[in-house]
Amino acid sequence: EETGIEVNVVDGKGDALLERIKAEGERSPADVFITVDAGRLWAAEEAGVFQPIESEILTETVPEEFRHPENLWFGLSKRARVLFYAKDRVDPEDLATYEDLADPQWEGEILIRSSSNVYNQSLLGMIIAEHGEEAAAEWAEGMVANFARTPQSNDTGQIRAVAAGLGDVAVANHYYYARLVLSDDPDDQQVVEEVGIFFPNQETTGTHVNISGGGVVQGAPNREEAIRFLEFLVSPEAQAILAEGNAEFPVNEDAPLPEVLEGYEFKENTTPASTIGENNPKAIRIFDRADWR
Ligand code: FE
Repeated sequence: EETGIEVNVVDGKGDALLERIKAEGERSPADVFITVDAGRLWAAEEAGVFQPIESEILTETVPEEFRHPENLWFGLSKRARVLFYAKDRVDPEDLATYEDLADPQWEGEILIRSSSNVYNQSLLGMIIAEHGEEAAAEWAEGMVANFARTPQSNDTGQIRAVAAGLGDVAVANHYYYARLVLSDDPDDQQVVEEVGIFFPNQETTGTHVNISGGGVVQGAPNREEAIRFLEFLVSPEAQAILAEGNAEFPVNEDAPLPEVLEGYEFKENTTPASTIGENNPKAIRIFDRADWR
């Protein structure tokens, strides 16, 4: 409204949209591609979907670890992959790190979704960056040995499974819990009652943080407007709207935190999102070898 630039939105699943832009190639009418996860941004980058841009506003507003080193994409909001525990069975004092979840003390208690999920691939991508491939492989094997069940369902399903008593500790993204907190459904309120949220690695490497992000599409018919749109998305006003809508953390530190996230202050892991993305093929290989379905 402020600029007179009309914005047309095509909504869809991340991988489907990526396939569509790839298939359209040079003829794609897309100017901006927005998706979630460093792993998927990397896949889009590898597929030649993005073009580099110059924008002082974007490079000054988005912290270095949350944007591509050659400005192919920029983080727009942040998500933490955290732990959820059964309040009646787990003392949060016994929780510390992702690494510890592979310890035999958690045998039969760990809930986490399939390794085909990009969120897990990126979590392992961070662990590879922190500890190397060999230690990452050992961690994945230890996790599999501790699974409460064969990986199934989505992130919300893991949190619900803790409340249902299927396991003591789950790994999931923070905003799924925020959605339950905001839900009017008594079943969801019951889950929130029974399950606590824990930000791991606070005394060590920091909690794994991933991004929702976007960039200007290669061959964008409206390149300048596309850059202005991304610049708008990192403004404090737009950041507040984004964060309120997806219960993620703003990338612009001048933007207010949505009410549901108040009190969630934590130390973030600083592995660049681009490194996590580059580690994606290694992560997939390690998961396969560990037989993490
Ligand atoms: Fe999600």
